[in-house]
Amino acid sequence: MEYFWLKKHLDQWRSAIENNHKPQAVIISGAVGLGKRALLQQILAELLCRQSDTFCGQCQNCLLFNQGHHPDVSHIEPENNLIKVKVIRELTQFFTSTPHCSDHKIAVINQADNMNTAAANSLLKVLEEPPSRGILFLLTDVKHQLMPTIRSRCINMDVRLSQNEKKQLANWLIEAHGNSAENAEKALLFNDFQPLLAMKMLQENQLTSFDEMLDCLYQAANGGISVTSSAKKLTEFEESSWELLQRYFMLVGKARMQQESTINTLTHPLNQIIKKSPKVFHIIIKITELVQGVMLNLNTQVKSQLLIESMLVEIKNELNLRR
Ligand SMILES: [Zn+2]
Repeated sequence: MEYFWLKKHLDQWRSAIENNHKPQAVIISGAVGLGKRALLQQILAELLCRQSDTFCGQCQNCLLFNQGHHPDVSHIEPENNLIKVKVIRELTQFFTSTPHCSDHKIAVINQADNMNTAAANSLLKVLEEPPSRGILFLLTDVKHQLMPTIRSRCINMDVRLSQNEKKQLANWLIEAHGNSAENAEKALLFNDFQPLLAMKMLQENQLTSFDEMLDCLYQAANGGISVTSSAKKLTEFEESSWELLQRYFMLVGKARMQQESTINTLTHPLNQIIKKSPKVFHIIIKITELVQGVMLNLNTQVKSQLLIESMLVEIKNELNLRR
């Protein structure tokens, strides 16, 4: 598997299959960015292929699956964050029909925590009398939001990273994806060590534009450029960059509080100034509030440049920088 931390979960699945413990309902849970869907894709591919235990890629089942429309696989997605009972009733129908060309009827409910009560109760009935060749997969980022009665009737697969695997992530981002060590570590830190989110951040060059944002802030604070021109430039950044800015200051605060070595990854000169200040926590809270204020008004009629200007003036005062 491309995502090395999923191998342990796949091995666990394979050994259950080898020992004839094929489950009828499985919850695949875990935080966003851990590769739950990738794991499921591999499991489905192996279940459907009739030529090999893994995935031959050549047989009819493999070809249909690769094209994304295998007749024995049904995917349910929430509509407007809701999975209604009607959809689950259709699923019951699907399960009772005989498989077209594979050995199973497989249903996948994505973001299963979006089922309303009626839908969840209807699903419970399916789980109480599972169809003999049916296998159900529920995917969720928030397993605790599923009904306990549903959870207890499913095999649980919690996708997670061990401490050791976390340590290998930076190398994985460097070696497999050609990133610099500094950026790899920063991206992991920003994304709470969720590897696929970190990868996306690097692929989209979000760190580069974020650094520009910090430069702007820094230069306005130390008088390198005027508050007005810095504010003008800052208006060009999107909401996601502002969110990142907020996360950044929280990380600086957290690292300082826990005396973590991660603080060494956050090397921007702005961070160095904040770090040296005797009022470091006060400043971080203040800046976070100011950034929040800007964010709340980003998509409103309020003139964001004026708002950003006043944010910069306040930050400048807090840091008390003189040229
Ligand atoms: Zn095959």
